[in-house]
Amino acid sequence: MEKIRGILIGRMQPVHNGHMQIIKKILDEVDEIIIGIGSAQISHELKDPFTAGERIMMMNQSLADMDVDPSRYYIIPMQDINFNAIWVSHVKMLTPPFSIVYSGNPLVKQLFSEEGFEVRQPPLYDRLHLSGSEVRRRILADEDWMELVPEATVKLLNEINGIERLKNLSVKEISDL
Ligand code: NAD
Repeated sequence: MEKIRGILIGRMQPVHNGHMQIIKKILDEVDEIIIGIGSAQISHELKDPFTAGERIMMMNQSLADMDVDPSRYYIIPMQDINFNAIWVSHVKMLTPPFSIVYSGNPLVKQLFSEEGFEVRQPPLYDRLHLSGSEVRRRILADEDWMELVPEATVKLLNEINGIERLKNLSVKEISDL
């Protein structure tokens, strides 16, 4: 029988518990999930501090810690392109075939539904706290950010001195004003 594949694309700056909860739910609905690491070319910016490779490591280890069978997922870095009208073709070129798109992002939903894909809006888990911008804000404010992310994200940020990187980026951007 043909496998049903779904795709979730996110910047994952960084991978947080909302991403992992939604992935768990998607895996209940499809045979395989494609996890697109979006804006793969961007790193070392205040809103996008981590490289695609670092985000892949956070995701890969978080899935392993959740005991997800590695044959059920693909993690694929995806660079942005300047042309929204052909972005879906760009994504299709990078991935195994898929039929269901999971996204809460209005532009992503619009572009895939115009190309005839089934688009499902996943429920948002505690969006007030579970968002990349809240994790980055708490890191900069020295508040508790670790409760918002899987252990693998904490470990990776320690390994790469990610907190220091983010703080340095914020200093640089303020002094550049
Ligand atoms: P994101 O990391 O904010 O979110 C990724 C997904 O996770 C979203 O669909 C969201 O619904 C889900 N999510 C986030 N928090 C959640 C929570 N608390 N509970 C449940 N689900 C949650 O990333 P994003 O901004 O949606 O990423 C879209 C990517 O697609 C970006 O990298 C963007 O640049 C790219 N894109 C590129 C083009 C182009 O190149 N022309 C066009 C469209 C989109």
